[in-house]
Amino acid sequence: MPMLDAAAGQVGTSTAPGQDAKAPVAGEPCVLLKLGEIVLKGRNRDQFERRLQNNIRSAVKGLGIKIQIWQREGVIVVRAESGELADVDAVARRMLDVMGIVWVHRAWRVAKEPDATVQAALDLVGQHPALVRKGAFAIRARRRDKRFPMTSSELNILVGSKVQERYDLPVNLKHPDIAVFIEVDQREVFVFTDGTPGAGGLPVGMSGRALVLMSGGIDSPVAAYRMMRRGLKVDFLHFSGMPFTGPESIYKAYALVRELDKFQGGSRLFVVPFGKAQQQIKSSGADRLQIVAQRRLMLKTAEVVAHNLGGAALITGDALGQVSSQTLQNITALDDAVELPIMRPLIGMDKIEIMAEARRIHTLAISELPDEDCCTVLTPRRAETRAKIDDLRQIEKRLDAGEMAEQLSTTLQEHRPSYGDPGA
Ligand code: ATP
Ligand code: MG
Repeated sequence: MPMLDAAAGQVGTSTAPGQDAKAPVAGEPCVLLKLGEIVLKGRNRDQFERRLQNNIRSAVKGLGIKIQIWQREGVIVVRAESGELADVDAVARRMLDVMGIVWVHRAWRVAKEPDATVQAALDLVGQHPALVRKGAFAIRARRRDKRFPMTSSELNILVGSKVQERYDLPVNLKHPDIAVFIEVDQREVFVFTDGTPGAGGLPVGMSGRALVLMSGGIDSPVAAYRMMRRGLKVDFLHFSGMPFTGPESIYKAYALVRELDKFQGGSRLFVVPFGKAQQQIKSSGADRLQIVAQRRLMLKTAEVVAHNLGGAALITGDALGQVSSQTLQNITALDDAVELPIMRPLIGMDKIEIMAEARRIHTLAISELPDEDCCTVLTPRRAETRAKIDDLRQIEKRLDAGEMAEQLSTTLQEHRPSYGDPGA
């Protein structure tokens, strides 16, 4: 097979160990990533791509695989330095959790010549599962480099005729069983069959930093995921009922953050023992306002913590009407407690939808483990659904809630749950 452009970091044809069942494809295996909204919206492209490259690099760190990243026009190419298929596969799998990537393709880089392109396409069809049942095929060529001597349709015809000649398969351009994609780039040609949808969204960190109020429940991890997907790097804050509850909710929060860490890396979980503060609220005669008063104190504490961490917003898992503290009037009373914006990405979602998403991101099973939520101790038999802001402010005046929040923010315990750590 012809040599690739040396400047592009060519390594020759690779035969991956342990892949003997599949014949090698002419070329070098790599991961080809299609990017999201930047292309569509023309936002700050450089920042998007740089941020994404850094995030890709930190995502693969735990794999112990040396990679190289090349920015091409509108796509990113990731190579494993080993050139081994197993490494490239592991990197491709990891890319599915990196925000900002819309498609993940396991592709073959070949020399920028028709012969090499034909050979790779023949090899790929030759190992496609639909080959044995004589499935229909389609070749889909496109050029990012218009100087290539053949047009896309000429390439389609050339490669298509060779595939037909070799394998005698029918063509079906609309609904093929085997689609071979050919992308002519500046330095090389990428050839691949199907890909996997990526996480989409924006690269984590691109939108700034925020603090997630993280219970051990189902909703807040999904809320965190949604906002990471919009480019926020998040820290996590959990209030435990300690010393009046056991530590189970902390273990759950820890396990949840460790799972969510796969989407951003470097996650920090801060835990506040909240039981005594709850008791003080109760002693102040909050009665039916207990839950909303607690939630306001959580938010006030979170605001202090966010300020110290450089977080510009708070994130909660509230959904309108889901529980009594989440009526419109109560949510309004919660907003009144702090100056920072409170982001509630689940506000319009049904519980069933939230659960489906929690299952997909692998947090549901952790959330469903039993624990003693701090909010369920000391709760009144009947909770207020129409909390009045003035009444809440009265309670807070008696307690000096501002001072309590400051004080609570000094009791933080910091954890670093990292994806890939034992137990993940
Ligand atoms: P979740 O499933 O996230 O616990 P929920 O449906 O149980 O939500 P609430 O218990 O009213 O509803 O909590 C609403 C939001 O308040 C949570 O999504 C979370 O953001 C925040 N919150 C509640 N309890 C805690 C806690 N112990 N620590 C930190 N944040 C909390
Ligand atoms: Mg809860």
